[in-house]
Amino acid sequence: MNEPVLILNINFEPLHICNTKRALALVFAGKAEIILNGRGMIRSSTAEFEAPSVIRLGHMIRRPRPRISLSKREILRRDDFTCQYCGRKGRHLTLDHVVPRHQGGPHTWQNLVAACMYCNRRKGGKQLSEVNMHLHRQPFEPNATAVYRFGQHVKQNEAWAQFIEGW
Ligand SMILES: [Zn+2]
Repeated sequence: MNEPVLILNINFEPLHICNTKRALALVFAGKAEIILNGRGMIRSSTAEFEAPSVIRLGHMIRRPRPRISLSKREILRRDDFTCQYCGRKGRHLTLDHVVPRHQGGPHTWQNLVAACMYCNRRKGGKQLSEVNMHLHRQPFEPNATAVYRFGQHVKQNEAWAQFIEGW
């Protein structure tokens, strides 16, 4: 009952991921329909239900364009788990403030990058020009496209790809 279910807006825009239990509650309340049943059946003592993989709401949800929340995990993901100074890939990456905090560098998408421990130590709280280091690319706030937000789930839920692409 805790498997992920993709929720689509009435216009098929991917909105969120919830679990099977929440998805079935929406379906039973008449607020959503099952678009894709990829999870077989669920049996209770009295009944049998389709277990949804994708559901679609029966009404339009209007909301501001989503943004990716700033976190270490999302910075590393944006940078493809690659040190932005030397190009090393790895798990033991740190966050580096390009303009150091103590020099007024803000905690923003544009001033944070993934850095390996070696480069982080080498940079040592200085400006890039002081240590002759260079960024592979200018850091940016990622667009919160559906592929960016939900794409990592497609490996486990291949049928979702058709619902996610293009949004
Ligand atoms: Zn590095």
